[in-house]
Amino acid sequence: MKIVIFGPPGSGKGTYASRLEKRLGVPHISTGDLVREEIRNRTPLGRTIEKYSSSGTLVPDEIITEILKKRVASELSRGFILEGYPRTVGQAEQLEKITRVDVVVNLNVPDKIIVDRLSARLQCKSCGAIYNERTMKPKVSGKCDKCGGELFRRVDDQPEVIRERLRVYREASEPVVDFYRSRNLLRDVVNDDPNADPGQIVDQILKLI
Ligand code: AMP
Repeated sequence: MKIVIFGPPGSGKGTYASRLEKRLGVPHISTGDLVREEIRNRTPLGRTIEKYSSSGTLVPDEIITEILKKRVASELSRGFILEGYPRTVGQAEQLEKITRVDVVVNLNVPDKIIVDRLSARLQCKSCGAIYNERTMKPKVSGKCDKCGGELFRRVDDQPEVIRERLRVYREASEPVVDFYRSRNLLRDVVNDDPNADPGQIVDQILKLI
């Protein structure tokens, strides 16, 4: 099965995609994680894309599509849960050339919940697991429950960068919703409860796909 999880920054895409990976047994591919890996490994590509990522703007379509193509190539027969791509209509058109997708889950979350959630988000340096200082705390402060890795706050989770990421989402990414709606692939999930249990949202997604 080839699933795209779509939605604004902070809508829970990464959290739901990693839970779906376990429930469905298909790999979770996150272009955001691929971008952070390039930057962390200080590759020449990482140095080129760091300025986009740290300011909350989008990496150009050609560069991000090459990064995705490399990662997705080995999963074309098994399927995947793709998260963070496509983010522009141009990327959605590129993805159609790479492979077909079966369903696109569109997460609808109010801005207020997004800003609150992102300003409290922590991520594991080693395995990428996501926590929240208020609602999904790790058992031991600063340490990942799953692998013991160190938790960090993303540089783009600062209030002014969050606002820029939301602006970019409205401008460049929202048209992707119509692209998939017109192909009858879009399934809407509404989450306007800041205390919603991620497990329940995942169950809702599983019913829709
Ligand atoms: P994310 O973790 O999905 O919020 O991605 C973090 C950052 O990586 C974004 O703010 C962008 O700078 C970059 N990025 C990730 N995926 C894409 C994409 N599909 N298109 C352009 N830039 C991306």
